[in-house]
Amino acid sequence: MSEPDAAVRDQFARHVNPTFAKLLGVLGYGRVWVRAEGATLVDDAGVRYVDLLAGFGSMNLGHSHPELLRALAAALAASPVHVCHTGATPHEAAVAARLAAAAGPPFEIAMMSSTGAEAVEAAIKLARAATRRAGVLSCDGGFHGLSLGTLSIMGATRLRAPFEPLVPGTQRIPFGDVAALAKALAKKKHAAFVVEPIQAEAGVVLPPPGYLAAARELCTAHGTLLVFDEVQTGIGRTGARFAFHDEKITPDLLVLAKALGGGVVPVGATLCSAELHRRGYGSLDRFDAHGSTFAGNPLACAAAIATLDLVDRDGLAARSRELGERLIERLTARIGGHPLVRAIRGRGLLVGVEVGTGLSSAVSDASAWLAEHAPRLGRLAPPPFIGQWFAVRMLEAGYLCQPAAHAWDVLKLEPPLTIEESALDGAVDALARILEDYRSAAAVLRDVGARMASRGVKGWAW
Ligand code: PLP
Repeated sequence: MSEPDAAVRDQFARHVNPTFAKLLGVLGYGRVWVRAEGATLVDDAGVRYVDLLAGFGSMNLGHSHPELLRALAAALAASPVHVCHTGATPHEAAVAARLAAAAGPPFEIAMMSSTGAEAVEAAIKLARAATRRAGVLSCDGGFHGLSLGTLSIMGATRLRAPFEPLVPGTQRIPFGDVAALAKALAKKKHAAFVVEPIQAEAGVVLPPPGYLAAARELCTAHGTLLVFDEVQTGIGRTGARFAFHDEKITPDLLVLAKALGGGVVPVGATLCSAELHRRGYGSLDRFDAHGSTFAGNPLACAAAIATLDLVDRDGLAARSRELGERLIERLTARIGGHPLVRAIRGRGLLVGVEVGTGLSSAVSDASAWLAEHAPRLGRLAPPPFIGQWFAVRMLEAGYLCQPAAHAWDVLKLEPPLTIEESALDGAVDALARILEDYRSAAAVLRDVGARMASRGVKGWAW
């Protein structure tokens, strides 16, 4: 064990994000992460944790994958050149061809970027340019990024509202509702329907069978481009190389990021057919209509190529499917009947455990407690805390996980696809043991209250 690094905590709280630092102290979730390998994280006290979050689905290969690191070192050692709109480079040509091959026809063109939000923005821009329509349709519960354009299609108010008014012409409909989709598209005003094949941050919400196929048909019929945001579901996460491969349909635009860079280099990509690209950007005055200075840089391209190669070579999509099925089976057997567990669902290693039955009566007590003891935190009053509390208890048991961004009562389990099966079994045991402490929501809230009272005395220090 080493000594916790107080200087890092102070610097983080002063110079990075004071509000977040305070929140980390409220329940005792604060850690300083110093090292990671495979599915193991190490904090500044030398404590080891199993990573069940994988950088919100970025670390599909596991942390610090040695072959990925070697590929990156080799790319840098080759004195690569990066140019923006002045000519071609081998690495950008190679990554675009590799992505097209990985996604299959009709995908032929890859517009590179650095983040998921940028890659979604690229899809919206191309859709507007190609269709000459302004509207963008998306779903309640969707998460597509935190830039202004992607916030405009964000499916939850908390993160969107502070920045309104946003990009005009957007409309949200319930996820999975074919009638609502048909009605919206019939107006023939939408350039794009942007949707996640599985809504991760809404709480791992799977579409009803046939929904995405119906979306494909309706979009084609009404001249709207179908955009699959696979920033979180792609690169093997849900048991296929891309989730759309399981749906037996093909979107017009495929958006990737997160795990595409192996969790080491920021990389995003927006894939489309050559014909669609020509429709939007085919005239000479539009050759530079989309791009950014470091899009398609050598390190990003090397990371994406190595990641796609390793996922294929090691059969990580199939591994994700098998381990995910087993994880859901084990969770169902161990905690499926617990009075606080509402649902266990997912596909591949993207699994959600929904907790919190019977909260409503306990919530008003907890809200009153918060209003008295921590008025500034009142906006975060339960039910959000219930999922966060289980994440705190899991952390203390040696497992890092988090509730979904828009559904704090759903604990997300999305480890690296390379995780050992025994580590997953350990996670199931840990969660089952923690749940044994609670038979009701009121019992959870009592513990949350006691923890906050003890930490509040210390000024939420962590
Ligand atoms: N789309 C989805 C489905 C996501 O889950 C996220 C991030 O969590 C994004 C887009 C935004 O990606 P980034 O954070 O790289 O901008």
